[in-house]
Amino acid sequence: MVTFYQSTRDKSNKKTASQAILQGLAEDGGLFVPVDFPKVDLDFEKLKNASYQEIAELVLKAFFDDFSADEIKSMVTKAYGEKFDSPEIAPLKRLGNHYILELFHGETIAFKDMALSILPHLMTQAAKKNGVTNEIVILTATSGDTGKAAMAGFADVPQTKIIVFYPKGGVSHIQEQQMLTQKGENVHVVGIDGNFDQAQTAVKEMFNNKVLHDQLLKNNKQFSSANSMNIGRLIPQVAYYIYAYAQLVKTGQITDGEEINFSVPTGNFGNILAAYYAKKLGLPVHQLICASNKNNVLTDFFKTGLYDKNREFYVTSSPSMDILVSSNLERLIFELTDENDKVTSDLLTALSVEGHYQISKEMITKLQGFVADWASEDEISKEIQETFENEKYVLDPHTAVANYVYHQIQPKEKTVVVSTASPYKFPKVVLEGLENDKTELSVNRDDFAAVKSLEKLSGIPLPKTVIGLEEAEVLHHTVIPAAEMQKEVEKYLGLK
Ligand SMILES: *Cc1c(COP(=O)(O)O)cnc(C)c1O
Repeated sequence: MVTFYQSTRDKSNKKTASQAILQGLAEDGGLFVPVDFPKVDLDFEKLKNASYQEIAELVLKAFFDDFSADEIKSMVTKAYGEKFDSPEIAPLKRLGNHYILELFHGETIAFKDMALSILPHLMTQAAKKNGVTNEIVILTATSGDTGKAAMAGFADVPQTKIIVFYPKGGVSHIQEQQMLTQKGENVHVVGIDGNFDQAQTAVKEMFNNKVLHDQLLKNNKQFSSANSMNIGRLIPQVAYYIYAYAQLVKTGQITDGEEINFSVPTGNFGNILAAYYAKKLGLPVHQLICASNKNNVLTDFFKTGLYDKNREFYVTSSPSMDILVSSNLERLIFELTDENDKVTSDLLTALSVEGHYQISKEMITKLQGFVADWASEDEISKEIQETFENEKYVLDPHTAVANYVYHQIQPKEKTVVVSTASPYKFPKVVLEGLENDKTELSVNRDDFAAVKSLEKLSGIPLPKTVIGLEEAEVLHHTVIPAAEMQKEVEKYLGLK
């Protein structure tokens, strides 16, 4: 049986997995979801001894079944190898009464590496499979982490170009320096005067722009997406939820079949949706905890059924979650409507026209598997400090959000807090938390000075990617107004 993918806004728009990956977003503006959800035998007596790679293969084979088993094995081997600084790929640590799933052992020390280290392989293999000879142009808006991870994955991959837009002033110094020093003949990084939502909206518009689409084809090019809107980015993320469960069974922390919770620091709703997909595959999950920062649009949504982006936008210490339009929620909405493409499309259109939508009572009753809450800037800082004091463990601000919300909710089931970044990616904020110090000296301290102090204080070895980063040559200098993003794309690609 081949798994087909349909658009959330037009169910008659169906693709194979490889076509959906290649395309990224559906032409009607919807997101691709499986028509029939695949079935997998999750036998943890066996899986507890499986490697991360073996579990990734199991998941990818189930969802992306127009790739052969050999193709998947080869892609998984290339993706989850030496680029990770932990042989376990996603190590699980115990922290008091709960667990931390560390997803930051890849090249760019944030969880985006989990999927973006395999996406370029999926994409180029998908092009081959479908006889596509056009150059694939990856167009991406980033709140800081996707951009670098996508560039690291796609740099110098033949037949591809990658253009990354990020909010100038909306990312950490380390994140920005990581992006601006990215090497590769085919990468282009552009800062915009605007926030992430503006960047993401403009990218979506370019994807749906018919004139631009035809102009690209004339130049033997086509767009694709490395955002979590791409199903090729979402599905690889299912693997680590199953892997985490397997580790808990293996170490006797839980019995096979026992329900657990995951607390996920959430922005675009990709990571937590992957957890939901793992649950749909049969993983024993009690609740998914959707943790937000001060941009708490999702907390309100899960509590009231009203999604309202008409609110102040805050730049916080967890910038990768500074998002008011969580794109992947559309995939959940589609399910809540019993896969009604018309209702889904109407709700999402209301969001872009009026800035809000309200789901029905019946839809709200189906949200029981989720619980949501948020953390303020002070609460994040305190969480970092207390966790270090009590457990000698250093949280990054994103993970601190999820850890804080876990503590607020105090679930009785065993809970895994998903850790999405290394503390070295946001050293200044982390150090301020650890030292509980907001004096002028610490506030004016640079990220790189903070790295050194953090290393001394925490004793955590410096990740490879941070060593030498401060001195690395800045290779990208373009900054433009948000309104000129399309012009910049046309210019860079030399469209005629
Ligand atoms: C992207 C990101 C998030 C948010 O993940 P979503 O899939 O967008 O919800 C959280 N933390 C970090 C560090 C990230 O890079």
